[in-house]
Amino acid sequence: MTVHGVTGEAWNCPHCGERILRSALTCPACQRHLRLDAVALGRQDQAIVCPLSVDGTIRHPGTEAAWEYTVLIEVHDGVGEMLARRVVGVGALGPGETRTFTLRVEVLVPEKSTLTAAS
Ligand SMILES: [Zn+2]
Repeated sequence: MTVHGVTGEAWNCPHCGERILRSALTCPACQRHLRLDAVALGRQDQAIVCPLSVDGTIRHPGTEAAWEYTVLIEVHDGVGEMLARRVVGVGALGPGETRTFTLRVEVLVPEKSTLTAAS
């Protein structure tokens, strides 16, 4: 536990209402500043790294009617138990249209630690 609260503690962004980490300086969803005190303190002991970033584009071939899509994200722990399952967006893709989807996992780590990805 630190002065910033319990590790992994979440709250709702006061600007956009997304569920985010209490320790975040800026909201990852709306990117507005959250903690003037933290900005003043500098938080130089931690860094944000991005060990997982995936993106892909889906194109409608244009030979059939419009598609509907659902963007679904699931988070599982080490034994396969589901921690979260969220629909983060839905929409429609007309003939010939494209959509690009990006998934990022941002991790807050102590500056000096070496992040090792699980294989
Ligand atoms: Zn926000």
